[in-house]
Amino acid sequence: MSSTIAFIGLGNMGGPMAINLVKAGHTVTVFDLVPEAVKTVTDVGASSADSAVGAATGVDFVITMLPAGRHVESVYLGDSGILAAVGSDTVVIDCSTIDAATARKVGAAAKERGIGMLDAPVSGGVAGAAAGTLSFMCGGDDATFAKAKPVLEAMGKNIFHAGDNGAGQVAKICNNMLLSVLMVGTSEALRLGIDNGLDPQRLSEIMLASSGRNWTLEVYNPSPGVMETAPASKDYQPGFMVDLMLKDLGLAMETAIASSSSTPMGALARSLYASHARKGKGKLDFSSIYQYLGDE
Ligand code: NAD
Repeated sequence: MSSTIAFIGLGNMGGPMAINLVKAGHTVTVFDLVPEAVKTVTDVGASSADSAVGAATGVDFVITMLPAGRHVESVYLGDSGILAAVGSDTVVIDCSTIDAATARKVGAAAKERGIGMLDAPVSGGVAGAAAGTLSFMCGGDDATFAKAKPVLEAMGKNIFHAGDNGAGQVAKICNNMLLSVLMVGTSEALRLGIDNGLDPQRLSEIMLASSGRNWTLEVYNPSPGVMETAPASKDYQPGFMVDLMLKDLGLAMETAIASSSSTPMGALARSLYASHARKGKGKLDFSSIYQYLGDE
């Protein structure tokens, strides 16, 4: 079914996501602070508005894809925010990766006005956004999730309902914290093998068939030349940038502090990625932590 949708925040992720909504036959109105970003989506048939509220007024769905929690708060809250401008028949979906506390705060403000809201951060990166194969991790009530799911399916292939408001953000940082730990662990195991005369290709085959098997060995081997399609074999061009992994690990640590959770491996991974980024490696793929552990 075709819906009217406002899409706000048309950067690396939001631009291709909005284009997929237009291609799926929805009527899309967009807004971004950067005119060139707006043009990429109006070029394929979206219309544009002069402000976020201008795009959001009177539509079935509002979707935002913004850098951080402060942008999300400023767009949604306050007398001139989106929540003050839309009716209770509009569903709002924030796909940005932000701290769970802000997601819960904005979700509660929406609920007070009778507006259904989901936090729905994604994984799959820019390639997944362009291909329409993102995974969405949603937080919100059942009815809002059911209404939003068909729209999210135009942009992704796995749509999960993690729990109430904020649960989508928590699911996302749990996954990325685990991923960072797996990447560091895989890198140091490969380094140890190489330092002791093993061929990384052969060692990878052995660990893939043994109990060390994990996603990084399956599709994202960090040792250059082992896997032709992996960023490691393309000078660590992203992929998923160190800076973005560092952002997500920072959110994971904030959440761990708020819930008094013990996350020693995540804390160490954040520290390693911070040190790597400080050496000027922030724009490389996150598998380049393999370089950090060696002589390069
Ligand atoms: P980006 O910086 O490319 O895009 C953000 C866009 O938001 C920009 O075009 C900016 O002009 C716009 N914007 C900022 N404030 C605004 C406002 N007040 N009103 C309207 N537009 C505004 O960032 P991105 O890479 O698209 O990432 C967006 C979000 O998705 C982030 O939270 C990021 O952590 C998350 N994410 C990114 C990736 C990735 O691989 N890039 C993967 C998963 C999740």
